[in-house]
Amino acid sequence: MRLLILGPPGAGKGTQAERFARERGIPRISTGDILRDAVQAGSALGRAAKAVMDSGRLVGDDVMIGVITERLARPDVRPGYVLDGFPRTVAQAVALDGLVDDQAPLVIVDVEVPEEKLVERLSGRMICSSCGWLGAPGAKECAKCGGTLIQRPDDRPDVVRERLRVFMRATQPLVEYYRRYPTFRSVDGDQGESAVAADIAAAVASVLGDTR
Ligand code: AMP
Repeated sequence: MRLLILGPPGAGKGTQAERFARERGIPRISTGDILRDAVQAGSALGRAAKAVMDSGRLVGDDVMIGVITERLARPDVRPGYVLDGFPRTVAQAVALDGLVDDQAPLVIVDVEVPEEKLVERLSGRMICSSCGWLGAPGAKECAKCGGTLIQRPDDRPDVVRERLRVFMRATQPLVEYYRRYPTFRSVDGDQGESAVAADIAAAVASVLGDTR
């Protein structure tokens, strides 16, 4: 089981990826989380990525392809994984094609949400300052670890607008790239969390040809 969740910032990719990964017992690989961890740890990767992330632009393809190559070489991905936030460009998608073997299909699900909803969703959301988990609306503490909820630096309205511009320019072409794959599906992301999760599960089942 290899699932790649595509969609604009604010489409709910992280929430859905986490949920799917938990239900199937496979790791969720979020390049955004890997970068945020690196920033917190003050590693060379984090120092290089911080300013780029804070401005809403994309970290360079070479760096990101290095990050994902290393991550997909770890043994915990053998039963499968959910990718969230990678690839973000066609160059990254081409590199990913070279990294995955053909032992299991790569299922690609595009989560579609109208643009006007995205700014609203992103500007209002809060994440945990300790574990990165997305806070429930109106909550002050993280439901997972009790940590303090803060606004992500790149969820400020000006940065959100830049992230959406970057998405349209660099990431939206990915949908055209993947549309020709027989394992590509799109789902309506403008519904409640459980309805989107059910649609993703149905999309995956339709690709894998099983009806569980
Ligand atoms: P995310 O949590 O997926 O929204 O990612 C947060 C930020 O990390 C993005 O706005 C980018 O600056 C950076 N980032 C995450 N994944 C990638 C990627 N695959 N390619 C380039 N930059 C990325």
